[in-house]
Amino acid sequence: MPKDVIELEKRVLIPNYARYPVVFERGKGCWLWDSRGKKYLDFVSGLGVNALGYSHPAILRALRQQAGKMIHCSNLFYHPYQGPLAAALAKVTGLERAFFCNSGTEAVEAALKLARAHAGKISASKFEVVALENSFHGRTIGALSATGQESYRKAFEPLVPGFRFVRFNDCRDLEAAVNENTCAVILEPIQGEGGIFEVSREFMETAARRARQHGALLILDEIQSGLGRTGDYLASQAYGVQPDIVVLAKPLGGGLPLGAILVREQIAGDLSAGMHGTTFGGGPLACRVALEFLSVLKKERLLPHVRKVGQYFRDQLAQLQRKHPMIRQVRGRGLMLAVELDRHSRPLTAQALERGLIINSTHETTLRFLPPYVVDRKLVEMACDILEELFTEAEQSGAPGAR
Ligand code: PLP
Repeated sequence: MPKDVIELEKRVLIPNYARYPVVFERGKGCWLWDSRGKKYLDFVSGLGVNALGYSHPAILRALRQQAGKMIHCSNLFYHPYQGPLAAALAKVTGLERAFFCNSGTEAVEAALKLARAHAGKISASKFEVVALENSFHGRTIGALSATGQESYRKAFEPLVPGFRFVRFNDCRDLEAAVNENTCAVILEPIQGEGGIFEVSREFMETAARRARQHGALLILDEIQSGLGRTGDYLASQAYGVQPDIVVLAKPLGGGLPLGAILVREQIAGDLSAGMHGTTFGGGPLACRVALEFLSVLKKERLLPHVRKVGQYFRDQLAQLQRKHPMIRQVRGRGLMLAVELDRHSRPLTAQALERGLIINSTHETTLRFLPPYVVDRKLVEMACDILEELFTEAEQSGAPGAR
């Protein structure tokens, strides 16, 4: 049966994914089962989406209740959940207004459009966006134009004009790039797809100050780092800066596609009726489930848990680093962690999968870990035992393959 699934896909889908040959059928907590009944410990959470793991009872209850009432009604009308969801997000972030869409990349598009609309009222030449090298903001043309990685961009050029890139954590480069023509500075507080690199406090403060000096908006892309992943509602809360726009998605919809921008009251009116919209975005089902997700975060005290278990995981990885010279660095915060290897990481990801552990490689030499927030010490130890076996075998098998 898995062979049939895979062969059918190979014939009928556009080949834009390099999938691993596993067909997943169900999940519970931090565990997934494939079509042969094999069990896997999931340390990727569907790329940061399944923050509560699989089949959380509160999420299932909300889904069932709302699906039986109304799944979709369009943004022509009100429904009972968009307002409360915006209010709940405002309460934990301090950003008073929201717009809901269906994915991260779409949320980035909304943020960029708002920034251009805002700046367009000041001057027609104020349209430049300053972004970071090695960033990832999504794959639609606008978000891709803000993405500072050649490999994602190359095939689709020319992209949207007006985007410029500064070196990561290089304050001078940033100072020089932001000027009166800048409408926005966009950055991820912790670059996720780029390999888990944290923006320095100085760089974040420089971004906020330069943006303010030139009347540009500071857009923080917290699609991966936000909503508890680092142990705070926003990773940027640890820096003490006040962004104009925060972009969210991944865990927000409890597994359903839901993205959002949260913005300051003063700029919300720059997107007036008809300037932006979406058919599906912010539908009753996704918003109802998102409210449940936020409520579980609070009820189960998951933020302090993420901080604690994340620190424990990081300490375990640091211990592995002391034993294994192939680990060059351990990076990250909360449950957004990575190890940098002295060789290609993808073979290890495949070997981990064979042993029932799901991890992810970003870039050539980085292993990334985004476990569900409900992970515990015991599961962290299980994952680290498998990693230890893999590192030992890789080192025994000889020299690094990558360099
Ligand atoms: N921004 C960041 C920081 C991301 O990590 C991602 C996805 O990985 C995106 C944007 C794009 O989100 P989506 O895949 O939901 O469009």
